[in-house]
Amino acid sequence: MSKVCDLASPILLPDSHKPLKKNRMHSSYYDASARARDAFPRLEGDIRTDVCIIGGGYTGLSAALDLRAAGFSVTLLEAARIGHGASGRNGGQIATGYTPGMIETERLVGREEGRRLWQFSIEASNLLKERIQDYAIDCDLRPGEFYAAIKPRHRDWLLQEQAHCERVYGYEQYRWLDTAAFRGQVASERFCGALYDAAGGHLHPLNYLLGLGRAAALAGVDIYEGSEAKGVAEGSTPVVTTAAGRVTADFVILAGNAYLGDLKPQLAARFIPVDAYIIATEPLGEARAQALMKTAACVSDMNYNLDYFRMSADNRLLYGGRDKLIGRAAPEEALRGNMLATFPELADVAVDYVWGGKVAITRNLLPDVGRIGSNIYYAQGYSGQGVPLSAIVGRLLAEAVQGQAERFDIFARIPHKRFPGGTALRLPLLSLARLYYEIRDAL
Ligand SMILES: Cc1cc2nc3c(=O)[nH]c(=O)nc-3n(C[C@H](O)[C@H](O)[C@H](O)COP(=O)(O)OP(=O)(O)OC[C@H]3O[C@@H](n4cnc5c(N)ncnc54)[C@H](O)[C@@H]3O)c2cc1C
Repeated sequence: MSKVCDLASPILLPDSHKPLKKNRMHSSYYDASARARDAFPRLEGDIRTDVCIIGGGYTGLSAALDLRAAGFSVTLLEAARIGHGASGRNGGQIATGYTPGMIETERLVGREEGRRLWQFSIEASNLLKERIQDYAIDCDLRPGEFYAAIKPRHRDWLLQEQAHCERVYGYEQYRWLDTAAFRGQVASERFCGALYDAAGGHLHPLNYLLGLGRAAALAGVDIYEGSEAKGVAEGSTPVVTTAAGRVTADFVILAGNAYLGDLKPQLAARFIPVDAYIIATEPLGEARAQALMKTAACVSDMNYNLDYFRMSADNRLLYGGRDKLIGRAAPEEALRGNMLATFPELADVAVDYVWGGKVAITRNLLPDVGRIGSNIYYAQGYSGQGVPLSAIVGRLLAEAVQGQAERFDIFARIPHKRFPGGTALRLPLLSLARLYYEIRDAL
């Protein structure tokens, strides 16, 4: 039986479906192509620390690196292994700006706060690239991202965003490619042009994460794996408990994102965890990969239920998308269908890997960052743009812990609404919202 499973467990692909190779014992291409993993111990006993971070993804590690550099003792608890969450499974695409677009972001937060958020997104990409360089992280970083229009309304939206970012922020990294020019870069007849972002890019997400983990450990962050935080007792010195240990801290940072479960139910009601999947083809060889994509950049389409793709360092096509309700098939079949709609000439190509993860999506599609009381901070809900944004948000969490919250508060002031009915109604609402967006995509 076919199933999409966790990074940690093997996957059996269906033998009735020829183009999928059967019995591959890796669920994730990233797992299979990961650089050497460091192992970290399980927490046992009582610990006293300045800052306890819950969650070993980009957000937790980014905050940990800056806090350690500022001289704090830092204990990071990871329920599974670092990179177990979205940070070890994602599309690796580095976009500038925010998921709703900057015109909508400014409508939500105002012109001045929108401008500051835009600057943070630029700082985020720069910081990510700086860390890759400073810590010599080998993660196949490549420049460039295309936002590809499938419909004329997508093209109009992209051109408006480009004009807005040029006029208001002086951003000069966007370049519009019409249908023919884009087809010269990406050999697909599905698109009617694309906006190129020279400052965007992509990377191997798990190797980036493992590099951050190694840098944090070398800097003196105490990382514990297999150490799920089961409770956080609030107070002047919050206490975090695990199955076999206890951490007493001056500050706690909750960085569990869509994987936090109900550790703090008031946070879970502020986003919906959407299942997203990626397939990796067998290696295509350089000539065939080049014939499909002349560009080294990655591509995202402009549907609500978007598809995104790029070539890996070993010339596999990585093709991702969100779980769909209409005409629902097993994720690997659905994604393979989408891939063939984009590149029909890949019909003979086998899919070697399929894996999934949870994306935390907020109602307004902007990150949800804030405090619980005076000494517990949280960040979640990047809505599909956490690869770069987690770098800056981690930095701002560290600044807030140091008592410099002016920049942190720009994110914390973003107005967010809970999902009505809290966690109980999240899933029915998610189905309704997905249905609505799928119908809109089809129009
Ligand atoms: C399939 C997929 C594709 C995506 N594609 C992109 C993309 O191309 N570009 C982009 O920018 N973003 C993308 N994203 C989103 C991006 O991956 C996330 O926004 C980002 O990784 C969030 O990082 P994080 O550190 O906040 O959370 P996570 O990486 O999810 O880390 C949270 C960690 O906390 C741990 N944890 C949870 N609860 C506890 C607990 N109680 N105790 C201890 N540990 C706990 C989890 O095990 C997990 O390791 C994608 C996500 C998915 C799933």
